[in-house]
Amino acid sequence: MQQTLMAHQPLHKAGTRSGAAVGIQAKQTPWEIEANLRAMIDAIPVPLVMSNGRGNTLHLNRAFMESTGYTLDDMPAMADWLSRVCPDPHDRQRVVQSWHDNLEKARLTGGAIAPMELDVKCRDGSVRTFMCCTAALEKSFAGICLTLLHDITSNKVAVDEFENLAFYDPLTYLPNRRFLLDRLHQALALSIRTGWHGALLLVDLDNFKGINDALGHSVGDLMLVETANRLQNCVQRGATIARLGADEFVVMIENLDEGEHVAAAHAEALGGKIHAALNLPYLFNGYEHFCTASIGVTLFHSSAKTLEETLKRADVALFQAKKAGRNMLRFFDPVIQAAIAARVALEADLRRAVSDQGQFLLYYQAQVDSSGHMIGAESLVRWLHPLRGMVSPAEFIPLAEESGLILPLGHWVLATACQQLADWAKRPATAHLTLAVNVSAKQFHLPTFVEEVLTLVDYFKINPAKLKLEITESMLLEHVDDIIAKMTELKIRGITFSMDDFGTGYSSLQYLKRLPLDQIKIDQSFVRDILVDDSGRAIVRTIIAMAQGMNLNVIAEGVETKAQRQFLLDKGCAYYQGFLFGRPMPVEQFEQLLILKNTICLEEAGEAIAKSAG
Ligand code: C2E
Ligand code: MG
Ligand code: MG
Repeated sequence: MQQTLMAHQPLHKAGTRSGAAVGIQAKQTPWEIEANLRAMIDAIPVPLVMSNGRGNTLHLNRAFMESTGYTLDDMPAMADWLSRVCPDPHDRQRVVQSWHDNLEKARLTGGAIAPMELDVKCRDGSVRTFMCCTAALEKSFAGICLTLLHDITSNKVAVDEFENLAFYDPLTYLPNRRFLLDRLHQALALSIRTGWHGALLLVDLDNFKGINDALGHSVGDLMLVETANRLQNCVQRGATIARLGADEFVVMIENLDEGEHVAAAHAEALGGKIHAALNLPYLFNGYEHFCTASIGVTLFHSSAKTLEETLKRADVALFQAKKAGRNMLRFFDPVIQAAIAARVALEADLRRAVSDQGQFLLYYQAQVDSSGHMIGAESLVRWLHPLRGMVSPAEFIPLAEESGLILPLGHWVLATACQQLADWAKRPATAHLTLAVNVSAKQFHLPTFVEEVLTLVDYFKINPAKLKLEITESMLLEHVDDIIAKMTELKIRGITFSMDDFGTGYSSLQYLKRLPLDQIKIDQSFVRDILVDDSGRAIVRTIIAMAQGMNLNVIAEGVETKAQRQFLLDKGCAYYQGFLFGRPMPVEQFEQLLILKNTICLEEAGEAIAKSAG
């Protein structure tokens, strides 16, 4: 074919550029040129695409058809070939765009243009990658361009495999040490910028060598793969799990918390989850096998020095965990380790106390009105630890929340409070008292919460209007609609609601407006600031004005001095709670205080009213 063409006089004097000039006889029509080129490129055993100056495809050669499996019948309209081989419209758009740009450049310069990679979907569904090199023929060839497609699929596969080998463990497909170091480098940099702590948990299977020796390496391999899967199920997206060596894995988590101890608690909780997952039996060849793991933990944060040092710290912690016996977790920092150990012990005690319950007491703190009359109380739980004595709720309530123990504990508090209300209802001196009960977010989110409250109200036959549930702003971070629905259901039955610690959390006025609240409780930190500075006073004034504007009554907590109460009274806050009126105390003492207060309160109230009038 080429011979036939070459037998004629060339169209132009000399082939200027290799591949860009073809010897074709002069005086041929554009149609003849195209037909001749078509025949010629069909004979070339390399995939080729012929297009015109506008980028429209004129011909695909036989080698192209052979390597992609298509036939001419598959491409009735040549212009459509790209939509067949490149079905994703975004990909196609990208290809077409760069092809057009390149063709334009080639047309102007008359030269070859930059190669471009193209993923081609073959007729059998497989994808092959071609490197496309386009050359524009000289102007006299009617702007025709030829694109040569060089199949680089096998090179790409080799490169991918090489990359996989370089960064991934071939047994578990987890990232390897090199990948981890790269990630850790980025994580340390981020932690320096944000000041948030991350953690590195070094997990080492206990006695893996024994398993390998006893059961053979193939079972050992299966165990490693299963361990990798279980670790992956323990973490959320964004964590990095790597296999460092034989039976040594690393779990890296970032952005745990700003505070070291909170971050440590999160890392410890994850360690517990990992222990639980790895302690489950491994089933191989119909037999159950057991394996434990030791975990060394180090936190990394802005003060972390280097990658090597961070890894070394995790290694030291792992050594401590191994030394302490199998299936253990240890932190690098002894101070954190001690804090975590104390916390773990306290949680175990709390668990026992919740099932025993004899250790919990409900205390009552008076709530008074502007004339000094006791209108009710807030119930506050106390834990009388057999060895440690009275443990503060500030210490054990967060622990109960995290461990889920708040659910049985919260139920006990609610039931005890309802029982107390039933008891007060029987006596004229106490029948008027309301009782506030703190409810945690976890309790409120229980699907059975409304039923739980209503069952207790019915069981103890109490007046629901005397029961006041205290919720906090932090509760509104999630599932607000669910909270509003539950509050509304309870409110219809007469139960009232107070927003505790108001002003300390996330307060969207939008949400506040939608909540069926009765009361806002000014947080004690603002009450404390009343006598400290102008801004403290301004905040309290604003909260009171806002509550009044929303038709909510307002109570101030943490009132310790007469001056604080006077300021609050002057600004229109009519209810108070704080040491000035009584500390939280057992019910017997509370009832004595009630009798005492009701005899002296008129005198105190007289003083207050006189001052506010003046
Ligand atoms: P809270 O609900 O805001 O309770 C008020 C806290 O302020 C109580 O601390 C109370 O003793 C203290 N307090 C009251 N008046 C004053 C005062 O004049 N000055 C000062 N400095 N403090 C005052 P407590 O009893 O240690 O309780 C701490 C927190 O523990 C409570 O804060 C509440 O969030 C939680 N809590 C207590 N009991 C329960 C409960 O039964 N369930 C739940 N979910 N949380 C509870
Ligand atoms: Mg409260
Ligand atoms: Mg409070």
